[in-house]
Formats: sequence, structure tokens, C-alpha cells
Amino acid sequence: MSNATRLLIVGPPGAGKGTQATMLAERYGVPAISTGDIFRANITGGTPLGLQVQEIINAGELVPDELTDTIVADRIAQDDATPGFLLDGYPRNVSQVQALDAELAKSGASLDAVVLLEADTDEVVARLLKRAEEQGRADDTEEVIRHRQTVYTEQTAPLIELFEERGILVRVDGLGGIDEVAERISAALTAKIGR
Ligand code: ADP
Repeated sequence: MSNATRLLIVGPPGAGKGTQATMLAERYGVPAISTGDIFRANITGGTPLGLQVQEIINAGELVPDELTDTIVADRIAQDDATPGFLLDGYPRNVSQVQALDAELAKSGASLDAVVLLEADTDEVVARLLKRAEEQGRADDTEEVIRHRQTVYTEQTAPLIELFEERGILVRVDGLGGIDEVAERISAALTAKIGR
């Protein structure tokens, strides 16, 4: 569907992607698809997938690409994603970008915009440590948080340049209140894609 809205939100762990993804998805009438949420739901539900990825996630490593690629391809093929989607946490490395591109190309589609939520490391680590106290996520220990930041820097941050070269990157300062950041994202996205 050529008039669908296909978006992606990227940023370091703790930048507030999940919160903003939910708000943005609502605005565009598309589902917010978070690979982290999908994996965590499977872990909680004790499914075969959950059992397969539990150790990996608790160590702050990436789940194997082929597995993650398949999960996302299946998810974006569902009916509710006909108007488009907002991906959160995927793609996370170059190989996943290639897989997503190939999947979208099957229907002549491509990403419309990529929102980069920028936040400095000290701030995001502090936020994650606070979340650890509140929610007790198993991968929110200080050591694993630091490892997730390293994985982000090494594998995900290089994607920013790639999206910039395609002319679809929208940079937004992630520091500030939730509504304030949401406003910034909306304004920047509208300026980029005209809706
Ligand atoms: P955060 O952005 O705070 O790291 P996420 O919920 O996006 O949290 O991801 C949590 C964990 O889920 C990651 O550390 C990783 O183990 C796994 N994960 C999520 N998305 C992907 C992905 N696209 N590829 C591989 N692993 C992923």
C-alpha cells in the first residue's frame, strides 16, 4: 500500500523510545511494534521463543538476526499493519536493515522516516537505573545496562549515517518532559514527510 506510513524510532537504551513510540503510533493510526516487548511477552508467557531468548536478553546481547527478522516480517504482514507501522528496537544492526529492506521491497515499499531520539549516555544510564528500581526488568542491572549501551554504540549507532544518507533521518533531542519531546518529534516528522 503506497500511502501507508512506515516509521522507525531509534536511540540508545533508556532514551524513552517506548513511551514516544506508543504516542506516535496512535497519532498515525499504526501499530507500535517493539521487538523488546514481543520478546519479553514471550519470556513472561514461558513460550518456546521466550525460553530460547531469555538468557540472551538477560545478558544484554542481541537475539540472532534470522529469528528477529522472521518475527518482524510476520508481524508487519498482519492486517493491522496495512496502514503502516512504527518499529521500535528493530532494525538494530546492518544485517537487520537489509532484511527489512528486502521484506518491504517485496511489496514495493520502503521506510518513510527514521526518528533518532538523542540522549547522552550519563542521562540514559541514570534513567535505566531508576527504571530498574521501579520495574525490576531482568536486563536493567548496571552491568547489563552498560553492555547494552556498548552493543548500541557498536552495532546500532552506525545505522544513523545510513539513514541520513537515504535522506529519511529525523533527529530529535530526547531530553525533556514526555509531552515536550512528543511535540518535538511530531513537528520534525511533519516537516519531513508532510503529514
Ligand atoms: P532497550 O532499548 O532498553 O535496550 P528493548 O526492549 O528495545 O530495550 O530490547 C531489550 C532486549 O531485547 C535487547 O537488549 C535485546 O536482547 C533484545 N532485542 C530487542 N530488539 C532486538 C533486535 N532487533 N535484535 C536483536 N535483539 C533484540
